[in-house]
This record gives sequence, structure tokens and C-alpha cells, in this order.
Amino acid sequence: MQFIDLNTQQRLIRDKIERNIKKVLGHGKYIMGPEVEELEEKLADFVGVKYAIGVSSGTDALLMALMSYDVEYGDYIITTPFTFIATAEVIALLGAKPIFIDIDEKTYNIDSDRIEDFLKDPIDSATNEFIKPAKIKGIIPVDIFGLPADYDRINQIAEKHNLFVIEDAAQSFGAGYKGKKACSLSNIGCTSFFPTKPLGCYGDGGMIFTDDVRIAKRLRSIRIHGKGEHKYDNVTVGLNGRLDTIQAAVLLAKFDIFSYEIDLRQKVAKRYSDALKDKFYLQEVPKSYKSAWSQYSIRPKKNNRDYYLRLLKNNNVPTAIYYQKPLHLQKTFNYLGYSLGDFPVSEKCSEGIFSLPFYPYINEKKNKLVIDILKKFL
Ligand SMILES: *Cc1c(COP(=O)(O)O)cnc(C)c1O
Repeated sequence: MQFIDLNTQQRLIRDKIERNIKKVLGHGKYIMGPEVEELEEKLADFVGVKYAIGVSSGTDALLMALMSYDVEYGDYIITTPFTFIATAEVIALLGAKPIFIDIDEKTYNIDSDRIEDFLKDPIDSATNEFIKPAKIKGIIPVDIFGLPADYDRINQIAEKHNLFVIEDAAQSFGAGYKGKKACSLSNIGCTSFFPTKPLGCYGDGGMIFTDDVRIAKRLRSIRIHGKGEHKYDNVTVGLNGRLDTIQAAVLLAKFDIFSYEIDLRQKVAKRYSDALKDKFYLQEVPKSYKSAWSQYSIRPKKNNRDYYLRLLKNNNVPTAIYYQKPLHLQKTFNYLGYSLGDFPVSEKCSEGIFSLPFYPYINEKKNKLVIDILKKFL
């Protein structure tokens, strides 16, 4: 059994993928070819926003989103410690400081009450000094494991404090929130096409979504070295942040079956949830939310993760732990001055959680095997 099997999907659409790639080999426009624009239009339409900008990765999407708001040295950005390093890394890259806020124990997403509490009396964790409110520029909520964060509340808080909101939707492309789609839930939505994400390509890639024409224009410039009228007219500091034409061609083939796959993901998740809810804490999907289920993660109620990991391993079932160490405890962020105990919910989840094999095409038999192994003990 594989943790994430990409081969079944490829077998279904291999012809189309090859045809699409051959088309690129034919026209030879490897950089910013027509497939990039076609994909941008299709995905903007799917997500329900005006503008989509194809970029080099999910990490670069987040970085460029921050650059489009002129985030710089001395600024602060609020985010969650229970996420992949990229979310906070891009803040630090620009010389700004991540402010971590603990998560909600049921959804594993940033806890909006705690954001409000923090903003009432914002203190720098390293210096213990009061942070001038104008230095706090934005919030990056993460839709962890594919489940959107609480955007109504978060956007409301952001508006009150004059902050932007960038949705880290690297794991949640295809997810839903109160009738809207992930990537459309705040000022800017950023996703990743890393191969194992819900919509993955065959290399690195990402996309940025926004309804703000000014931001879209800036992002198109930042994506190509801060270009103005043309490539050799440079009006701002940018980077080489383009999505490859060949990756766009692969994604076009995959996107045709994407909605079907999102439906399959709901079925797989339901099979796991129905069988495991008694003995494990599941990630709770609030009413009128829909997860893209990039990971299916559980926490044993008896807090005996190692037992289950061994049991599954002995039966050749692969698992993974997202995330072993919350970001405030990572060495790279020592300078932020956080320590063990600062974010008890994130720490508790990191100690108890693990993820099961999950992909749209996992069949009922394999699904049941994992469940049976987990239940033998129960
Ligand atoms: C994967 C991921 C990213 C980064 O995406 P890449 O395409 O790998 O650069 C950022 N944030 C989260 C939450 C992710 O899971």
C-alpha cells in the first residue's frame, strides 16, 4: 500500500497528459506558453475570483503575496505554528517576524479568539516589548489538511485592525466554505501544485488568486523580475516566479477530473470517519465547510500513537506525522523567543497526531484493511 498513490490517476488520464505535453513540445513556448493562461482562466473560474497568477511553487505564491503588500523588515505577520515550514519561512525571508497564534483543538486551524486576544495587547515574544499596531500587517491562516479556516471571523478581525489576509490554501484547493471555494476566502489565496497536493503537477508549481486588480497587476510584475512594460523594464524588486508551461499542460489534463476526485475524497474520508470516530479524535469539519482532504489525520483518544504506528508498520501500512514539531519549537525560529508550553494545543496535537494512507482512488478493500488493523486493538 502507498501513502499517496499517484499512479492510478495517471493511468486514467495518461493519454491526455501525453497529448498535452506533446503540444508544448510542438509550439516550444516553454516559458509563459498559452497553457499557463488557459489554466489561469479555468482555475480562476473554478475558484470564483477574477484573477489567477500561475507561479513556481506554493512557497513562492506566499512569498509573492507578501511582496505584493510590501511586507518588509520590522513588520509582523500573524500565523499558526501548526503548519508546514513554508508558511512562516516566507515571512522571515522578507525580514518580517512571524507571530504565532495557537490552533483550535477540533479543526487544527488558527484560533480566531486567540487572534483577537493577542491584538488587544500585542507583545513581541523575543523582546517583550509592545508592538506598534501599525507594524502588524496581516494574517496568514492555513487551511490545514485541506480544511478551510474560520474566514468570516478572521476577515472581520482583519478589517477591524486594518490587516490583510492571505489564505495558505496549499492543501485545500477544491475545498469549500459556506458556498465559496478555497482560494477565494480572503484578500489573496495561494495554492501549491506539489505532486501530492489535491491538484498536483509533475514538479513544482503554484497559483495565486485575488479579486484585487491592483494586487493582480503587481503579482504579474513580481513573477517576472518586477517587470514594467516589458522584461527589460524593471519597476519593482521581483523574482523568477513563473509556472512552467509543461506543468500547466499536465495540470490541464488533471483538472478535467478534479471535481470527480474531490467527490471521491469525501467518500474515502467518510469511510475512515465512520469507522474510527469512537476511539480517535478526528479533524472536525464544521457545518457548511468541505475539506479537500489533502491528509487524513487522527489522534488516538488513549494517547498511544506509537502503538498504532508500530501496528500499521508491521502490517505494511505507511503513515506520516504532520507535524512532528510545531514551528515555534523549530531551531530556525529560536530567535523569535518562543518556548515549550507557549502553544499547548499545537504541542498536544503534534504529540498525538498521525496521518493514514489517503488518495481519491484508495479502494474500499484497502480502506477497510487500514481500519481493521486499527480496530483489531480496539
Ligand atoms: C505544501 C505547502 C506549502 C508549500 O508549497 P510548495 O509548492 O511545496 O512550495 C505551503 N504551505 C503549506 C501549508 C503546504 O502544505
